[in-house]
Amino acid sequence: MALIVKKFGGSSVRDAERVMNVASIVTDEYKKGNDVIVVVSAQGDTTDDLIEKAKEINPNGPSRREMDMLLASGEQISIALLAMAIETLGCPVISLLGWQAGFNTDSHHGFARIKNVNPERMRAELAKKNIIIVAGFQGLNKYDDLTTLGRGGSDTSAVAIAASLKADRCQIYTDVDGVYTADPRKVPNAVKMNEITYDEMLELATLGAQVLNNRSVEMAKKYNVELEVLSSLERKPGTVVKEKVKMEKTLIRGVAKDTNVSRISVVGLEDTPGVAFKIFNKLAQQKINIDIILQSVGRNNTKDITFTTSKDRGDDAVAAIESMKDVLEYSSLTVDNNCAKVSIVGAGMESNPGVAAKMFEALYDANINIQMIATSEIKVSVLIDADYADKAVRAVHDKLVD
Ligand code: ADP
Ligand code: ASP
Ligand code: MG
Repeated sequence: MALIVKKFGGSSVRDAERVMNVASIVTDEYKKGNDVIVVVSAQGDTTDDLIEKAKEINPNGPSRREMDMLLASGEQISIALLAMAIETLGCPVISLLGWQAGFNTDSHHGFARIKNVNPERMRAELAKKNIIIVAGFQGLNKYDDLTTLGRGGSDTSAVAIAASLKADRCQIYTDVDGVYTADPRKVPNAVKMNEITYDEMLELATLGAQVLNNRSVEMAKKYNVELEVLSSLERKPGTVVKEKVKMEKTLIRGVAKDTNVSRISVVGLEDTPGVAFKIFNKLAQQKINIDIILQSVGRNNTKDITFTTSKDRGDDAVAAIESMKDVLEYSSLTVDNNCAKVSIVGAGMESNPGVAAKMFEALYDANINIQMIATSEIKVSVLIDADYADKAVRAVHDKLVD
């Protein structure tokens, strides 16, 4: 007998038919004699719709606590419906909200981190031979307030359960049949991978491949939870994410795109020591995550600093810099929300010079201008105009993966 954790995303439980489909996958596993814990997301676009409802009430952004109270409701609907579907198939089942399943988080509403999962209740339900359906994406903080884990957070809920109960398998079911070398909906000739390492998957997820949430991959690596990404619509093997893969070392594992990017430029700064410190220290105090940073030489003993952050923090970053007017001299401050980051990822890059050049050549051939560049051992990212993002992904994929 094995313990299997299965997670189903929003599209997999979109309507009654899909919920029944998930119920049959789950009960088939249970009937093999296995213990099954299922994590589900909100149905279809429910989370987006709830965000819109909140904006109707307060376009300036409601408090994060009340936002979490609202958003957590989407998953509550899914767990109840899936449990009802399983009841109709004649198997014992119980649905649990995040807190009932023991999810304790910190208090960062909207992007809370899981502190621990107390598995007592889940153990008791398994002992009663119940299939357990857990609401993903949510937990409880130390003040007994509901929290959510950030968009795509249900993947992390599933991995956390698998880690805390030492499950034999953690399967992430979605609307594609595995992890591809690029988003298969955007790049028709993308190739499905049978296996991928945690590190490569972590880079791909962080750089925009939303098929897995990056925190879930981070946690899977930390607790050595082997993940499988597979389709809820076709019953066939997916992609396994693990420490070491058998696959021969290919140069590039994938191409990813992230359009959640804001580019901020501070032009005409004084060219003296401490300027970068002042700016980035202020941004750190405001808990604004910075991604790519570029400093360049300006005219007349000045310098320019350009950096990127996520779109939802762009205005906060600008406000933070404007608040330093008294201690920071500059000639202009601009923000561009219409940019995209396109990245290539692959461990094989480390020992192969010229990969970046090939990427730049592909962009040149497609007549796409590069605004910023960032590299690490296993990735190269470029910032470009968002209007050309899909074209860039296809051009780079064609040149480097095909
Ligand atoms: P779920 O609702 O199941 O959580 P998501 O929409 O979060 O599903 O993630 C699945 C989507 O991720 C796919 O429909 C696909 O368009 C997209 N995607 C982006 N990059 C990749 C990739 N490299 N491989 C597979 N899917 C990808
Ligand atoms: N429902 C949440 C979202 O849409 C969590 C998830 O789907 O993983 O982001
Ligand atoms: Mg998802």
